[in-house]
Amino acid sequence: NLMVEEDRPEDLTPRAPIVTVMGHVDHGKTSLLDYIRKENVIAGESGGITQHIGAYGVMLDNGQKITFLDTPGHEAFTAMRARGAQVTDIAIIVIAADDAIMPQTREAISHAQAAGVPIIFAINKVDKPTANPDKIKEQLATMNLLVEEWGGKIQSEDISAKTGLKVKELLEKVLLEAEILDLKANADRLAQGTVVEAQLDKGKGYVATILVQNGTLRVGDYMLAGKNHGKIRAMHDERGHVIKEAGPSTPVSVLGLDGAPTAGDKFVVFEDEREAKQIAAKRTQLQRELSVRTQKH
Ligand code: GDP
Repeated sequence: NLMVEEDRPEDLTPRAPIVTVMGHVDHGKTSLLDYIRKENVIAGESGGITQHIGAYGVMLDNGQKITFLDTPGHEAFTAMRARGAQVTDIAIIVIAADDAIMPQTREAISHAQAAGVPIIFAINKVDKPTANPDKIKEQLATMNLLVEEWGGKIQSEDISAKTGLKVKELLEKVLLEAEILDLKANADRLAQGTVVEAQLDKGKGYVATILVQNGTLRVGDYMLAGKNHGKIRAMHDERGHVIKEAGPSTPVSVLGLDGAPTAGDKFVVFEDEREAKQIAAKRTQLQRELSVRTQKH
Protein backbone atom coordinates (compact mmCIF):
# COMPACT_ATOMS: atom_id res chain seq x y z
CA ASN A 1 0.00 0.00 0.00
CA LEU A 2 1.81 3.16 1.04
CA MET A 3 3.48 3.56 -2.33
CA VAL A 4 6.43 1.42 -1.31
CA GLU A 5 5.86 -0.44 -4.60
CA GLU A 6 6.59 2.80 -6.41
CA ASP A 7 9.96 3.15 -4.77
CA ARG A 8 12.93 1.68 -6.53
CA PRO A 9 14.28 -1.40 -4.73
CA GLU A 10 17.68 0.25 -4.29
CA ASP A 11 16.03 3.10 -2.34
CA LEU A 12 14.44 0.76 0.21
CA THR A 13 15.99 0.10 3.61
CA PRO A 14 14.75 -2.05 6.53
CA ARG A 15 12.14 -0.54 8.83
CA ALA A 16 10.88 -1.53 12.28
CA PRO A 17 7.76 -3.73 12.54
CA ILE A 18 4.52 -2.09 13.68
CA VAL A 19 2.68 -4.25 16.20
CA THR A 20 -0.90 -4.29 17.52
CA VAL A 21 -1.93 -6.11 20.71
CA MET A 22 -5.36 -7.74 20.64
CA GLY A 23 -7.31 -10.25 22.70
CA HIS A 24 -10.28 -10.86 24.97
CA VAL A 25 -11.17 -8.30 27.63
CA ASP A 26 -9.20 -8.74 30.88
CA HIS A 27 -6.71 -11.13 29.33
CA GLY A 28 -3.95 -8.56 29.81
CA LYS A 29 -3.54 -6.37 26.69
CA THR A 30 -3.19 -3.13 28.64
CA SER A 31 -0.88 -4.73 31.20
CA LEU A 32 1.41 -6.00 28.46
CA LEU A 33 1.51 -2.66 26.63
CA ASP A 34 2.11 -0.85 29.92
CA TYR A 35 4.87 -3.21 30.95
CA ILE A 36 6.69 -2.77 27.65
CA ARG A 37 6.19 1.00 27.74
CA LYS A 38 7.23 1.60 31.34
CA GLU A 39 9.76 -1.07 32.15
CA ASN A 40 13.31 -1.23 31.05
CA VAL A 41 12.90 -4.19 28.71
CA ILE A 42 14.88 -2.02 26.41
CA ALA A 43 18.64 -1.80 26.28
CA GLY A 44 20.43 1.51 26.37
CA GLU A 45 17.39 3.41 27.56
CA SER A 46 17.64 5.44 30.73
CA GLY A 47 13.99 5.06 31.65
CA GLY A 48 10.54 4.04 30.54
CA ILE A 49 8.08 6.07 28.58
CA THR A 50 5.66 7.88 30.84
CA GLN A 51 3.60 9.63 28.20
CA HIS A 52 0.72 8.13 26.32
CA ILE A 53 0.62 9.29 22.71
CA GLY A 54 -1.11 6.28 21.13
CA ALA A 55 2.04 4.64 19.82
CA TYR A 56 5.59 4.11 20.97
CA GLY A 57 8.84 2.57 19.88
CA VAL A 58 11.18 0.33 21.87
CA MET A 59 14.70 -0.80 21.14
CA LEU A 60 16.12 -4.20 22.00
CA ASP A 61 19.65 -5.13 23.10
CA ASN A 62 20.77 -5.64 19.52
CA GLY A 63 19.62 -2.16 18.50
CA GLN A 64 16.57 -3.43 16.65
CA LYS A 65 13.35 -1.48 17.08
CA ILE A 66 9.68 -2.37 17.43
CA THR A 67 6.82 0.11 17.14
CA PHE A 68 3.69 -0.57 19.19
CA LEU A 69 0.26 0.86 18.59
CA ASP A 70 -0.73 1.67 22.17
CA THR A 71 -4.44 1.24 21.60
CA PRO A 72 -5.30 -2.22 22.89
CA GLY A 73 -8.22 -4.09 21.44
CA HIS A 74 -9.37 -4.78 17.96
CA GLU A 75 -11.76 -1.81 17.90
CA ALA A 76 -8.87 0.44 16.94
CA PHE A 77 -7.57 -2.16 14.53
CA THR A 78 -10.92 -2.52 12.77
CA ALA A 79 -11.62 1.24 12.86
CA MET A 80 -8.33 1.83 11.08
CA ARG A 81 -8.93 -0.94 8.60
CA ALA A 82 -12.43 0.41 7.93
CA ARG A 83 -10.75 3.64 6.85
CA GLY A 84 -8.46 1.68 4.59
CA ALA A 85 -5.44 2.00 6.82
CA GLN A 86 -3.24 -1.05 6.88
CA VAL A 87 -0.88 -0.13 9.66
CA THR A 88 -0.13 -3.35 11.51
CA ASP A 89 2.62 -5.72 10.40
CA ILE A 90 2.27 -8.23 13.25
CA ALA A 91 -0.52 -8.95 15.76
CA ILE A 92 0.20 -10.12 19.28
CA ILE A 93 -2.89 -11.93 20.54
CA VAL A 94 -3.01 -12.13 24.31
CA ILE A 95 -4.75 -15.14 25.88
CA ALA A 96 -5.05 -15.57 29.65
CA ALA A 97 -3.71 -18.99 30.64
CA ASP A 98 -6.18 -19.21 33.53
CA ASP A 99 -9.09 -18.75 31.15
CA ALA A 100 -9.83 -20.11 27.68
CA ILE A 101 -10.19 -19.06 24.05
CA MET A 102 -12.97 -16.52 24.33
CA PRO A 103 -15.22 -14.82 21.71
CA GLN A 104 -12.97 -11.77 21.40
CA THR A 105 -9.93 -14.04 21.08
CA ARG A 106 -11.58 -15.69 18.09
CA GLU A 107 -12.53 -12.29 16.69
CA ALA A 108 -8.99 -11.00 17.06
CA ILE A 109 -7.65 -14.09 15.30
CA SER A 110 -10.06 -13.71 12.39
CA HIS A 111 -9.35 -9.97 12.08
CA ALA A 112 -5.63 -10.63 11.87
CA GLN A 113 -6.14 -13.47 9.41
CA ALA A 114 -8.47 -11.37 7.24
CA ALA A 115 -5.85 -8.62 7.13
CA GLY A 116 -3.11 -11.13 6.31
CA VAL A 117 -1.21 -10.10 9.42
CA PRO A 118 0.91 -12.79 11.10
CA ILE A 119 -0.06 -13.71 14.65
CA ILE A 120 2.12 -14.31 17.70
CA PHE A 121 0.31 -15.70 20.75
CA ALA A 122 1.17 -14.31 24.16
CA ILE A 123 -0.16 -16.87 26.64
CA ASN A 124 -0.45 -14.56 29.64
CA LYS A 125 -0.82 -14.76 33.43
CA VAL A 126 1.42 -17.82 33.76
CA ASP A 127 2.40 -16.50 37.22
CA LYS A 128 -1.04 -17.56 38.45
CA PRO A 129 -1.25 -20.97 40.14
CA THR A 130 -4.40 -21.71 38.14
CA ALA A 131 -2.66 -21.00 34.82
CA ASN A 132 -2.67 -23.83 32.29
CA PRO A 133 -0.92 -22.69 29.11
CA ASP A 134 -0.98 -26.20 27.63
CA LYS A 135 -4.77 -26.22 27.72
CA ILE A 136 -4.76 -22.98 25.68
CA LYS A 137 -2.38 -24.46 23.11
CA GLU A 138 -4.53 -27.55 22.88
CA GLN A 139 -7.58 -25.38 22.26
CA LEU A 140 -5.70 -23.48 19.58
CA ALA A 141 -4.76 -26.78 17.95
CA THR A 142 -8.42 -27.76 17.70
CA MET A 143 -8.91 -24.49 15.82
CA ASN A 144 -6.19 -25.49 13.36
CA LEU A 145 -3.80 -23.02 14.92
CA LEU A 146 -0.69 -25.02 15.71
CA VAL A 147 1.96 -23.26 17.75
CA GLU A 148 5.63 -24.17 17.25
CA GLU A 149 5.72 -26.27 20.43
CA TRP A 150 2.95 -28.35 18.94
CA GLY A 151 4.76 -28.82 15.66
CA GLY A 152 3.12 -25.86 13.96
CA LYS A 153 4.38 -22.62 12.51
CA ILE A 154 2.76 -20.04 14.77
CA GLN A 155 5.03 -18.48 17.36
CA SER A 156 3.86 -18.26 20.97
CA GLU A 157 5.37 -17.36 24.32
CA ASP A 158 4.17 -18.09 27.86
CA ILE A 159 4.41 -14.74 29.61
CA SER A 160 3.37 -12.74 32.62
CA ALA A 161 2.54 -9.16 31.78
CA LYS A 162 2.43 -8.55 35.54
CA THR A 163 5.94 -9.74 36.45
CA GLY A 164 7.45 -9.29 33.00
CA LEU A 165 8.38 -12.96 32.74
CA LYS A 166 9.40 -13.82 29.14
CA VAL A 167 8.22 -10.51 27.74
CA LYS A 168 11.67 -9.95 26.32
CA GLU A 169 11.52 -13.37 24.63
CA LEU A 170 8.14 -12.41 23.21
CA LEU A 171 9.67 -9.28 21.71
CA GLU A 172 12.50 -11.33 20.22
CA LYS A 173 9.88 -13.46 18.50
CA VAL A 174 8.34 -10.31 17.10
CA LEU A 175 11.71 -9.41 15.61
CA LEU A 176 12.07 -12.89 14.16
CA GLU A 177 8.68 -12.58 12.48
CA ALA A 178 9.66 -9.13 11.21
CA GLU A 179 12.80 -10.55 9.66
CA ILE A 180 10.72 -13.04 7.70
CA LEU A 181 8.43 -10.22 6.53
CA ASP A 182 11.46 -8.29 5.25
CA LEU A 183 9.82 -4.92 5.97
CA LYS A 184 11.22 -2.00 4.02
CA ALA A 185 10.62 1.65 3.32
CA ASN A 186 12.19 4.57 1.49
CA ALA A 187 13.39 7.12 4.02
CA ASP A 188 14.45 9.45 1.24
CA ARG A 189 11.09 10.85 0.14
CA LEU A 190 8.25 13.02 1.43
CA ALA A 191 6.52 11.36 4.37
CA GLN A 192 3.23 9.49 4.29
CA GLY A 193 1.46 7.42 6.89
CA THR A 194 -1.56 7.16 9.16
CA VAL A 195 -3.12 9.14 11.99
CA VAL A 196 -3.21 7.18 15.27
CA GLU A 197 -5.07 9.70 17.41
CA ALA A 198 -5.65 13.44 17.63
CA GLN A 199 -7.09 15.94 20.03
CA LEU A 200 -7.31 19.60 20.91
CA ASP A 201 -4.90 20.58 23.67
CA LYS A 202 -5.83 23.83 25.42
CA GLY A 203 -2.31 25.17 25.46
CA LYS A 204 -0.80 23.66 22.33
CA GLY A 205 -3.65 23.54 19.83
CA TYR A 206 -4.35 20.44 17.79
CA VAL A 207 -2.02 17.58 18.62
CA ALA A 208 -1.97 14.53 16.37
CA THR A 209 -0.07 11.31 16.89
CA ILE A 210 0.86 9.96 13.52
CA LEU A 211 2.81 7.00 12.31
CA VAL A 212 5.27 7.65 9.51
CA GLN A 213 5.09 4.59 7.26
CA ASN A 214 7.20 5.74 4.36
CA GLY A 215 9.52 8.68 3.81
CA THR A 216 10.81 11.12 6.40
CA LEU A 217 8.71 13.80 8.08
CA ARG A 218 10.40 17.08 8.96
CA VAL A 219 9.45 20.19 10.92
CA GLY A 220 8.26 22.77 8.41
CA ASP A 221 6.69 20.15 6.12
CA TYR A 222 3.22 20.88 4.84
CA MET A 223 0.86 18.06 5.73
CA LEU A 224 -2.59 16.98 4.60
CA ALA A 225 -4.19 14.56 7.07
CA GLY A 226 -7.75 13.48 6.29
CA LYS A 227 -9.54 16.79 5.77
CA ASN A 228 -7.10 18.76 7.88
CA HIS A 229 -3.89 20.40 6.87
CA GLY A 230 -1.12 22.61 8.16
CA LYS A 231 2.56 23.29 8.40
CA ILE A 232 4.29 21.15 11.03
CA ARG A 233 5.35 23.60 13.75
CA ALA A 234 6.92 21.09 16.13
CA MET A 235 7.34 17.36 16.65
CA HIS A 236 7.81 15.28 19.80
CA ASP A 237 8.66 11.65 20.34
CA GLU A 238 6.95 9.34 22.87
CA ARG A 239 9.29 10.60 25.58
CA GLY A 240 8.22 14.18 25.01
CA HIS A 241 11.57 15.07 23.46
CA VAL A 242 11.66 17.60 20.66
CA ILE A 243 12.64 16.02 17.36
CA LYS A 244 13.29 17.57 13.97
CA GLU A 245 12.61 14.57 11.75
CA ALA A 246 10.95 11.17 11.86
CA GLY A 247 11.65 8.29 9.48
CA PRO A 248 9.66 5.15 8.58
CA SER A 249 7.88 3.23 11.39
CA THR A 250 8.34 6.17 13.75
CA PRO A 251 5.38 7.39 15.83
CA VAL A 252 5.48 11.11 16.46
CA SER A 253 3.15 13.77 17.82
CA VAL A 254 2.85 16.79 15.58
CA LEU A 255 1.66 20.36 16.12
CA GLY A 256 0.38 22.62 13.38
CA LEU A 257 -2.73 21.01 11.89
CA ASP A 258 -5.88 23.15 11.60
CA GLY A 259 -8.07 20.49 13.25
CA ALA A 260 -8.11 16.99 14.66
CA PRO A 261 -8.07 14.30 11.96
CA THR A 262 -9.69 10.91 12.68
CA ALA A 263 -7.75 7.82 13.71
CA GLY A 264 -7.04 5.85 10.58
CA ASP A 265 -6.91 8.92 8.30
CA LYS A 266 -3.99 8.85 5.93
CA PHE A 267 -1.56 11.72 5.77
CA VAL A 268 0.72 12.94 3.01
CA VAL A 269 3.29 15.70 2.79
CA PHE A 270 3.38 18.10 -0.13
CA GLU A 271 6.21 19.79 -1.91
CA ASP A 272 4.52 23.15 -1.45
CA GLU A 273 1.80 24.67 0.65
CA ARG A 274 -0.34 25.76 -2.28
CA GLU A 275 -0.87 22.25 -3.57
CA ALA A 276 -1.86 20.95 -0.12
CA LYS A 277 -4.32 23.81 0.40
CA GLN A 278 -5.95 23.21 -2.98
CA ILE A 279 -6.51 19.55 -2.19
CA ALA A 280 -7.80 20.32 1.28
CA ALA A 281 -10.26 22.86 -0.17
CA LYS A 282 -11.39 20.34 -2.78
CA ARG A 283 -12.01 17.73 -0.10
CA THR A 284 -14.05 20.15 2.02
CA GLN A 285 -16.13 21.11 -1.03
CA LEU A 286 -16.70 17.46 -1.93
CA GLN A 287 -17.83 16.75 1.59
CA ARG A 288 -20.20 19.72 1.51
CA GLU A 289 -21.72 18.47 -1.75
CA LEU A 290 -22.05 14.98 -0.32
CA SER A 291 -23.84 16.20 2.81
CA VAL A 292 -26.19 18.37 0.71
CA ARG A 293 -26.99 15.33 -1.38
CA THR A 294 -27.63 13.11 1.64
CA GLN A 295 -29.83 15.78 3.22
CA LYS A 296 -31.98 15.89 0.08
CA HIS A 297 -32.60 12.14 0.24
P1 GDP B 1 -7.18 -6.03 29.09
O1 GDP B 1 -8.64 -5.82 29.30
O2 GDP B 1 -6.92 -7.14 28.12
O3 GDP B 1 -6.44 -4.79 28.71
O4 GDP B 1 -6.60 -6.57 30.47
P2 GDP B 1 -5.78 -5.81 31.61
O5 GDP B 1 -4.38 -5.58 31.21
O6 GDP B 1 -6.57 -4.64 32.06
O7 GDP B 1 -5.74 -6.93 32.74
C1 GDP B 1 -6.93 -7.42 33.36
C2 GDP B 1 -6.60 -7.86 34.76
O8 GDP B 1 -5.67 -8.93 34.73
C3 GDP B 1 -5.94 -6.77 35.60
O9 GDP B 1 -6.44 -6.85 36.91
C4 GDP B 1 -4.47 -7.12 35.56
O10 GDP B 1 -3.77 -6.69 36.70
C5 GDP B 1 -4.52 -8.63 35.49
N1 GDP B 1 -3.35 -9.18 34.79
C6 GDP B 1 -2.89 -8.84 33.56
N2 GDP B 1 -1.81 -9.55 33.24
C7 GDP B 1 -1.55 -10.35 34.30
C8 GDP B 1 -0.55 -11.34 34.59
O11 GDP B 1 0.37 -11.62 33.80
N3 GDP B 1 -0.63 -11.98 35.79
C9 GDP B 1 -1.61 -11.71 36.69
N4 GDP B 1 -1.61 -12.38 37.83
N5 GDP B 1 -2.56 -10.80 36.45
C10 GDP B 1 -2.54 -10.13 35.29
